[in-house]
Amino acid sequence: MTADRLLRAALFFALTTTGLLAHDDEAHHWDEPFDFPDLPGYLTLVSDLHQHSVFSDGAVWPTIRVQESKRDGIEVMALTEHLEYQPHAADIPHPDRNRSFHLAHDHAQDDLLVVTGAEVTRSMPPGHINAIFIEDANRLIMDDPMAVAQEATRQGGFLFWNHPMWLPQKPDGVSELTPLHEQMIAAKVLHGIEVVNHGRYSEEALQIALDHDLTIMGTSDVHGLIAWEYETYPHLHRPVTLIFAEAQTAPAVREALFDHRTVVWYTDTLIGRQRWVEPLTRACLDIAPVGYPNDHLALKVVVSNSSSTPFTLRNRSAYALHRTADIFRVPAHGQITLEFKTREKLEAVDLSFEVLNAIIAPATHPTLTWEKLTVGTDASAAAEH
Ligand SMILES: [Zn+2]
Ligand SMILES: [Zn+2]
Repeated sequence: MTADRLLRAALFFALTTTGLLAHDDEAHHWDEPFDFPDLPGYLTLVSDLHQHSVFSDGAVWPTIRVQESKRDGIEVMALTEHLEYQPHAADIPHPDRNRSFHLAHDHAQDDLLVVTGAEVTRSMPPGHINAIFIEDANRLIMDDPMAVAQEATRQGGFLFWNHPMWLPQKPDGVSELTPLHEQMIAAKVLHGIEVVNHGRYSEEALQIALDHDLTIMGTSDVHGLIAWEYETYPHLHRPVTLIFAEAQTAPAVREALFDHRTVVWYTDTLIGRQRWVEPLTRACLDIAPVGYPNDHLALKVVVSNSSSTPFTLRNRSAYALHRTADIFRVPAHGQITLEFKTREKLEAVDLSFEVLNAIIAPATHPTLTWEKLTVGTDASAAAEH
């Protein structure tokens, strides 16, 4: 253990023992790349599509963003420099606004897709809007925000409204569409919305996405170092958007975003449309009724989690749990053993769980049923003491 890791471990211990951290299994975020299982027909790509470098108001060179992404297991990234806010321009003159993209792109290896991007940076309305998959950021420097959005869309861009809950632009923190946003949505030049930005979640933004067919996005909007901004209480990991794409290529990722195939992962919570949260949860969790140990009528069920997020589940099955309370946690990349009082020996069983760390609409958590699970014959593991 290095001194740095020792220090982190000591900090983690201090936080957990003082109750500042509710959980005991977050430590892996500090060491492991983010990892989520693929879905049938789709790769699950971990993306962070809103980041800054010294080419706008960020504090690092673009290649550092690439290295951070590699460390975190990010598979798709964009540098989205402010077009209109260039505080380092005197020290780092760069007439070509695509420069940070090229530096990052040339530094990245095959396992990281770097796509083009820029942040249109206006007061409200419309506030800040990211345009990614654009051809040329230089041609987006113009006055009228509607004209910028039209040009970015004409270039093939995917545009999303950044931090609609940001207090400096919306002092009540309540994300709300303005008439200009409604015009942009109607003109199909605004395609997504950040439901999560940095350390902010907006359930109003989630509702806007659902009501107006916008893609649900979550990003770090990092300016400093990821390691300093996200790996201590309370964020623990940078917010990312999981994208379900047919390939790790710009056209496939772009198509997935226009098709709303996203789930945001933020503070160990999955936020997205039920259509994608549900298959992702099913891919992460394996629920295995292994048998009735010792001939007792308590069905032993092993729940395994193959993902980077812990799950918090509530039992909604027809059977009560033995030992465990109705709400329990499945650690990231870990497993737990449950016992269900089925009252008779079953050969197959339906088990239902409400996924409390998944959000499919404001304050709404999905309940998933695993149907007709075959009960195994493993009667070996004695559980009762
Ligand atoms: Zn912004
Ligand atoms: Zn930004």
